[in-house]
Amino acid sequence: MLRTIKEAGELRGKRVLLRCDFNVPLDGDRVADDGRIRAAIPTIEHLAKAGARVIIVSHLGRPDGKPDPKFSLLPVAKRLADLLGQRVSFASDTVGASAHQNLQQLKDGDIALLENLRFNEGEASKDDSSRGAFAEQLAAFADLFISDGFGVVHRKQASVYELAKLVPSYAGFLVEKELEILQRLSASADRPYTVILGGSKVSDKLGVIEHLLPKVDRLLIGGGMLFTFLSAKGFKVGKSLLETEQVEKVRGFIEQAKNLGISLEIPSDVVVASRFAADAEFEVVDAERIEDSRFGVDAIGLDIGPRTSAKFAELISSSKTVFWNGPMGVFEFPNFASGTKAVAQALSGVSGTSVVGGGDSASAVRELGFSENAFTHISTGGGASLEFLEGKSLPGLEVLND
Ligand code: AMP
Repeated sequence: MLRTIKEAGELRGKRVLLRCDFNVPLDGDRVADDGRIRAAIPTIEHLAKAGARVIIVSHLGRPDGKPDPKFSLLPVAKRLADLLGQRVSFASDTVGASAHQNLQQLKDGDIALLENLRFNEGEASKDDSSRGAFAEQLAAFADLFISDGFGVVHRKQASVYELAKLVPSYAGFLVEKELEILQRLSASADRPYTVILGGSKVSDKLGVIEHLLPKVDRLLIGGGMLFTFLSAKGFKVGKSLLETEQVEKVRGFIEQAKNLGISLEIPSDVVVASRFAADAEFEVVDAERIEDSRFGVDAIGLDIGPRTSAKFAELISSSKTVFWNGPMGVFEFPNFASGTKAVAQALSGVSGTSVVGGGDSASAVRELGFSENAFTHISTGGGASLEFLEGKSLPGLEVLND
């Protein structure tokens, strides 16, 4: 059983180290999408109201173990203070002089954010002792540890795993909520149950397909990985993304779906472009005729076509449970966002459980202007939710189990 914040006992006066996932997209020194910050608010407010001295840690981007101003959490501190309507003191390092000085001044109910964890080599080091040593430095700040960075619970990193072994540790409200939804998806999904997978890398999603295929009624394939499926069916895909070494495996999935009577939906039309660019010329073609388009062998598939979008929308709308991970096309370019929009639109109208599985799909629904309330849940963790659904054990959760 997961130990949760409710079992943490008296919080007043306690120094509580809270791991959040504030890995948000930045636009210069402004937070471009604050979804992950807002998702952390209930836990932060609970701790502050209970009189804890709240010390928040997070990573942002991949700064490679040393300070890099591009990845500073300062814009996050400002946004967090705005959202809370409360001062958030910011330390310009994680375990150095600035952190110590900031934390000395913390009073009951105060909140501090320390600088990016990944400015320190120990955080994401492959070396156990280096991670252990960094976790010891963090542990010295804390009476209690609350793990609420759901987006990183699949990582064995110092502030996620080793730290939780050094001080009394509990899951925060966000981790609890994410798990509750994912457990519902894996154990008792109402039917029809549809999963939509997209994004760029098929190899990342093979494990999920393998695990989910026998459990779902419909599996819809979009994004860059659809071309590996088309190739497995014997079609040519021009210069579209293709993972040749996965074709055999994918052929196995197509066979398995047929045997199990599961509807595995591979697009029947796609939008192809002359090159990978926002202003590239494009046209819609049947999926088996990509190289017959006017771009010939140079055609690059960048979105699912309108016929496929309509079919996907219909399958989604008539489902009782839907999980979606990965955009259907290169939605960052408006000409290739239609498929992703159509899926988001249909998902927003589902009357049962609709879950957007983190990362790019979560940013896509917000960027495309959908209201968050239109979905049952928008996960803050793409990788973590996929690994959970794959049935893998997640180190950051294991360590919070009694
Ligand atoms: P992932 O991180 O695996 O969810 O991939 C998300 C990325 O996949 C987005 O940035 C999309 O632009 C990209 N993507 C979706 N469809 C395609 C495609 N057909 N070709 C190349 N990239 C794609």
